[in-house]
Amino acid sequence: MTATPTETTKTPYLQIQGLVKKYGDNYAVDNVDLNIERHEIFALLGSSGSGKSTLLRMLAGMERPSQGKILLDGLDVTYQAPYERPINMMFQSYALFPHMSVEQNIAFGLKQDKMVKGEIDTRVEEMLKLVQMTKFAKRKPHQLSGGQQQRIALARSLAKRPKLLLLDEPLGALDKKLRQQTQLELVNMLEQVGVTCIMVTHDQEEAMTMATRVAIMSDGKLRQVGTPREIYDFPNSRFTAEFIGETNIIAGEVIEDAADYCVIASKELSRPVRLGHGITGPEDQDIWVSLRPEDVNLSRNKPTADFNWEEGKVKEIAYLGSFAIFHVELTSGKIIKSTVASSRWYLADEEPPTWDETVYVSWRDNMPVPLTR
Ligand code: ADP
Ligand code: MG
Repeated sequence: MTATPTETTKTPYLQIQGLVKKYGDNYAVDNVDLNIERHEIFALLGSSGSGKSTLLRMLAGMERPSQGKILLDGLDVTYQAPYERPINMMFQSYALFPHMSVEQNIAFGLKQDKMVKGEIDTRVEEMLKLVQMTKFAKRKPHQLSGGQQQRIALARSLAKRPKLLLLDEPLGALDKKLRQQTQLELVNMLEQVGVTCIMVTHDQEEAMTMATRVAIMSDGKLRQVGTPREIYDFPNSRFTAEFIGETNIIAGEVIEDAADYCVIASKELSRPVRLGHGITGPEDQDIWVSLRPEDVNLSRNKPTADFNWEEGKVKEIAYLGSFAIFHVELTSGKIIKSTVASSRWYLADEEPPTWDETVYVSWRDNMPVPLTR
């Protein structure tokens, strides 16, 4: 049967269905469902032991799933051997062959596939150009810097034009400065060849900078999947809110829930939080709000509103150059963090508040994100 013109649903490029990996009684990967579109750069983000590498290894065919399915471009690859899959994996330790030159390293997989020599040369040249390493073609890996080795490893992974590229902590061996610079270069190169890519990282900045979408993983489960913005602005739980960036979590109870606002009371605050929208869910249920430090205003002037501000004392100041994080202790003992741009004080011709000074924190009613778990 042919598809009708009105049919808009299409099969996702990569489908991961109910994927499980058990080691003994332990679930390293626990029932993961995930669809990835062609050309996506997708990041799996989670702390150590959350199951990221295991998931990636199952995609690469290096680990046999206990349950579930992997479909790539319409084909079931769940039990295919690694070399049968149109998938390539690049490891954190680049594992370049030390006795081979850069060009031999890149050509290795193509030779194994019995590609004809002329084509191999063209492909190697193309790859060297992509990673801007043409003039290093004759060098051995030990004659290259860490960043250069990383690029050669990428060139080697891409040489066979895999349908899916898997990167496990691709920049893990680089120092912080070089990492940040390489993140954007790497994204550029991946976009140039248009390869679909899943990368694993424990570095949230890296995931947020590089990926079109991110999955937050813990205990073998995907906790939230979305664009970096969605995950940051609309966390689905306290776990993700606290995992990504910094936030203030305030525990409370819904005491009023109308169509266009709601009011949340908290023992940690001296007056309620009011949100400029209603929330769905039973009244008097436990609730938390997440309030990002950059959404908390800090001032010496006492607000007059009935909601959304507190008095406190400056307990700590983390000065970070262009901005500072103030830790403000409320009378309940609750600490509220507020991020303030350093320019704020000199623009107002004012000294920044100092330790133990009384200050007021406040926020707009569209800033707190209500969370029910
Ligand atoms: P991550 O890459 O997120 O750090 P892993 O996927 O390496 O996490 O590991 C997830 C969990 O599975 C961990 O608890 C780890 O100890 C366990 N695990 C990983 N590989 C094995 C293995 N070969 N045998 C037993 N347990 C394993
Ligand atoms: Mg790992």
